[in-house]
Amino acid sequence: MTYVFEPAPLASVPVAGSDTRFPVRRIYCVGRNYEAHAREMGHDPNREPPFFFSKPADAVLYVAPGSTAEFPYPAQSHNVHFEMELVAAIGKGGKDIPVASALDHVYGYALGLDMTRRDLQGEAKKLGRPWDTAKGFDHSAPIGPIHPVSQIGQLSKGEIWLAVNGEDKQRSDISQMIWPVADTIAFLSTLFELKAGDLIFTGTPEGVGAVVKGDVMTGGVDGIGEFAVRVV
Ligand code: MN
Repeated sequence: MTYVFEPAPLASVPVAGSDTRFPVRRIYCVGRNYEAHAREMGHDPNREPPFFFSKPADAVLYVAPGSTAEFPYPAQSHNVHFEMELVAAIGKGGKDIPVASALDHVYGYALGLDMTRRDLQGEAKKLGRPWDTAKGFDHSAPIGPIHPVSQIGQLSKGEIWLAVNGEDKQRSDISQMIWPVADTIAFLSTLFELKAGDLIFTGTPEGVGAVVKGDVMTGGVDGIGEFAVRVV
């Protein structure tokens, strides 16, 4: 079999502490998964079922620990927001996965940013249009190395935080998720068959806000370190 042109390279993310990489198949994202963030976005934080959107696999922008990655400010927006998130990396697929065994499907965890064109998202919400241009643009998924569960264990509590130019913006705890990782995997797997290589951005806590060119975002989650991203 011959392709009519060279296929695009497979998107992948380095695995921490090794020279291997995690090949990315799909990127799923959970919306409004922390109560205080749901409230700041103007929604009743009742425990309604989780909802999902996605980003293209090649939206990943690798952020190496100890260095500052560059996030290009996207065109067609004047209000680009950070959303600091814990990312769960799926190592074993499945559908209709029970909550009780859902965490067995997690290969590892990473730091992630769900970068968002908030102005385009607001317009889309108002007009009942899809979120793709708001959420799925190029480089919209900065991500740190993937830390295997085999090394760090499961992550169910611990601080999640983000600062811009050293000033605190987001600070919460991943135990505050409305739908913890296991529940999220169970729900998502009723909608899509999950496969090894899927990444799940698990939602952001309160305190989201805009960045401008030159800003440096630093963020972290207890247990998997921190990272830095400059807006260029
Ligand atoms: Mn998000």
